Amino acid sequence: MSQGFTLWFTGLSGAGKTTLTNELLPQLKERGVKIEVLDGDEVRTNLSKGLGFSKEDRDTNIRRIGYVARLLSRNGVGVIVAAISPYREVRDEVRKDVEAHGAAFVEVYVQASLDTLVSRDVKGLYKKAIAGEIANFTGVSDPYEAPENPEILVSSDTETVQESAAKIIDHLEENGLIEPAYHLAQNVEAKFAQFGDLQ
Ligand code: ADP
Repeated sequence: MSQGFTLWFTGLSGAGKTTLTNELLPQLKERGVKIEVLDGDEVRTNLSKGLGFSKEDRDTNIRRIGYVARLLSRNGVGVIVAAISPYREVRDEVRKDVEAHGAAFVEVYVQASLDTLVSRDVKGLYKKAIAGEIANFTGVSDPYEAPENPEILVSSDTETVQESAAKIIDHLEENGLIEPAYHLAQNVEAKFAQFGDLQ
């Protein structure tokens, strides 16, 4: 069984966590990686229904996501977490927990400047938050603690989605968490050769 991992995307709302997840998912599946996604917005509608946006509730939400990520990744699954996860301490707590269970934890800081986010304003939330209509909005009226030493830094200010995804795939390959593409090609060739023998 291959080593499981948790690929943890942290960053402000609209920075590109979900977009990158959607870009990576088919690429990883194509390579035969067992993969599961825990998306912050989705988790909040089921696993964490009823939780709000105080520090305490946010930390509870992240601990729950971390718990599920740990269960899956210790069984060889690759888990992608896409959640703002603004507090460093609880992210580091989840990292320790996942690693203690023999899986890898790969923190990806999905960075984007506030200017970019306000001009994108995908969900129309930044303008409201800046106008004071949304309390506890991360990056505007609530803190965001950027990772100090993430395994991967991607910037949706300066990179295309494809470039950021390629950085992540490279990291996973270099750290033996997924098979290198050339290895996969060799496997396919070997299968064909085997098939040829049978004919
Ligand atoms: P999050 O999941 O972090 O809240 P989303 O992925 O929902 O963010 O939104 C990011 C938005 O930014 C999308 O509309 C996406 O098309 C856009 N975008 C522009 N450039 C990039 C990039 N390089 N990487 C990721 N997203 C980008």
